[in-house]
Amino acid sequence: MGNDAQGVVIEAEGDPEALAKLVDSLGAEAPPLAVVERVSVRELDPQGEGTFQIAQSRDGGGRTALVSPDVATCDDCLAEIADPAARRYRYPFTNCTNCGPRFTITTTVPYDRPNTTMAGFPMCPDCAAEYEDPADRRFHAQPICCPACGPHLALIDRDGTPCPADDPLTEAAERVRAGDVVAIKGLGGYHLAVLAGDEAAVAGLRRRKHRDDKPFAVMVADVAAARGWCEVGAEEQALLESASRPVVLLERRDGAAIAPSVAPGNRRLGVMLPYTGLHHLLAAAIGAPFVLTSGNLSDEPIVHEDDDACRLVEIADVFLMHDRPIHSRVDDSVTRVFRGREIVLRRSRGYAPRPVALPWDFPRPVLACGAELKHTFCLGKGHHAFVSHHIGDLENYETWQSFTTGVEHFGRLFDIRPEVVAHDLHPEYLSTKYALDLEETAGHLALTGVQHHHAHVASCLADNGETGPVIGVAFDGLGWGTDGTVWGGEILVADLAGFERVGHLDTVPMPGGAAAIREPWRMAAAWLDAIYGPDVPEHLALARRHEERWRGVCQVARSGVASPATSSAGRLFDAVSALCGIRDVIRYEGQAAVELEQQADPGETGAYPLPVDAGSVLRLGTGDLIRAVVEDLGQGAPAGVVAARFHRGLAAGVVRACRAVRAERGLTTVACSGGVFQNALLLGLVVDGLEAEGFRVLLHSRVPPNDGGISLGQAACAGARDRQAQL
Ligand code: ZN
Ligand code: ZN
Ligand code: FE
Repeated sequence: MGNDAQGVVIEAEGDPEALAKLVDSLGAEAPPLAVVERVSVRELDPQGEGTFQIAQSRDGGGRTALVSPDVATCDDCLAEIADPAARRYRYPFTNCTNCGPRFTITTTVPYDRPNTTMAGFPMCPDCAAEYEDPADRRFHAQPICCPACGPHLALIDRDGTPCPADDPLTEAAERVRAGDVVAIKGLGGYHLAVLAGDEAAVAGLRRRKHRDDKPFAVMVADVAAARGWCEVGAEEQALLESASRPVVLLERRDGAAIAPSVAPGNRRLGVMLPYTGLHHLLAAAIGAPFVLTSGNLSDEPIVHEDDDACRLVEIADVFLMHDRPIHSRVDDSVTRVFRGREIVLRRSRGYAPRPVALPWDFPRPVLACGAELKHTFCLGKGHHAFVSHHIGDLENYETWQSFTTGVEHFGRLFDIRPEVVAHDLHPEYLSTKYALDLEETAGHLALTGVQHHHAHVASCLADNGETGPVIGVAFDGLGWGTDGTVWGGEILVADLAGFERVGHLDTVPMPGGAAAIREPWRMAAAWLDAIYGPDVPEHLALARRHEERWRGVCQVARSGVASPATSSAGRLFDAVSALCGIRDVIRYEGQAAVELEQQADPGETGAYPLPVDAGSVLRLGTGDLIRAVVEDLGQGAPAGVVAARFHRGLAAGVVRACRAVRAERGLTTVACSGGVFQNALLLGLVVDGLEAEGFRVLLHSRVPPNDGGISLGQAACAGARDRQAQL
């Protein structure tokens, strides 16, 4: 028996009945983390061997073995950590075959200790004995270690000197309890911790991080503690306690003692449970929920190299560090439950690099370069799509570097040398430029451009293991269209290989381009100018708030200079949010829409009109919807009522458009994708409306509806085009 890069090879001989039983038990009795995708049996001549032996891992051959995601500490290891008589009592790096670090420490394959960042920690005799013992839980656990041979914690001051402390962990917990900001080196990078009930501490962290409003995630000791602050349903509990241990978005309870600065203006809270021994021990020692947010400055990626930890020196009061290197920087994953089903929003720690299994094969190996924001890439081979961990926004050197080194790392781990390269159509995306450069330097690559919203719909199809054709509703912020406008409110008829744009939201100029993304009031101004011209209704407080810039912005919009026309649903939410007086200027992506959703009055039953004009391409008359918003506000309707009627009107318009497409094309399945469908209110209304009309609805689950899912869609599209030999 031995491990090689293609999986596990077992040679067994004996009584045929016993051998058949062995084969049967491979799937049924596999250990908790084993993924048995396939068992293939070949007959050999008997060798007459009578011993059990584990062969050295062999290199070479086509590698298809899977590298596991990092796995939360198992109950057995937790019991050991809590047992004063055990060797690993209170040891933060305790792990076994069923749990512990994997992807973050893997430097190459095969997955053996020398190919991990544990290479620098030779096993002590006790650990070596466990490692060699087939009856032990740690039999062949590559990251096995103990206080005698494994990594250790150290508490370091801002000036780089070790703090005098008997136990660095207890002291770090004390510092958190005292209101300090503590940087903690974890599994996939550095985090920053402060007490989540201490407003002064949380507000201080925000100031130091230059992060104004974006919600922080909170770590709690267990589900009971989560229930103290949030509503936790059965599916949510299962996700919280899963081996992936993502951040789960939960509904806050009224009166929970959360510092207001943890998640300003947000009815939801991102909550996670401890996922390493270190986090379990910390949570117990702190004894109260604590913010655990990425250790970075505002828009930079999470720090994972010890040399970079100095960047956090302006933010953290003290550093809890350890000496096990992190090979791959991995953020916490974020997920939520929608009607009993998981919709992952950020797919990273605990999920990546587990492949998305597909019911079809890639004819040739594929690299999909992804989009720009919330970037991921994807390598496809056989029936596996290896969607990368969340890379971040491709706009600075660090994220760019994680992208390019990540592509090489994944290529090595899964032995994939791409022959087909898929990319977005946006010429300015760094991911597009990467694809074009690759073609120039490597040559012999089949390049294929995939329109952004087609990629969203293809991603949703692949997520559901389907091929289409379907009606695709792709609602998001922005994506490069094929007609010189910026798309984002699209109704497509699509399969994996191609699409047709059969409808879209009305277009409006985006005054100032990127400035209109940061300042939603500009989108409102553009709409009002398009509808009313210079005679903006007098009652609109929005126009008065921006009086001195209003005319200028409207002129820019009309001139078309730096004001591309857009059909974006995201920008429509921005406009309505600003009109309602909820959000004029955003401080994180999607803020205006998030706050509009959360203000919507759940008891409201009205809906604004969104007529669908039949033509060769359906036009959803967004102008009528804006007009209704303005009229309602003029009659003194509260923002919550307007927000609800807007959501309901938009959803009804989508259903109307899908009915029109069905009448024309006979398609009865609708795939919903794009970042706007992270809006649970809109998603619920659209799904209800479509199902009531007899449609079958496909939603995301394994990859995010936002641009984090784009790479899977690009890969699926490239594979389908390759099958049709369109490349
Ligand atoms: Zn374990
Ligand atoms: Zn040891
Ligand atoms: Fe998008």
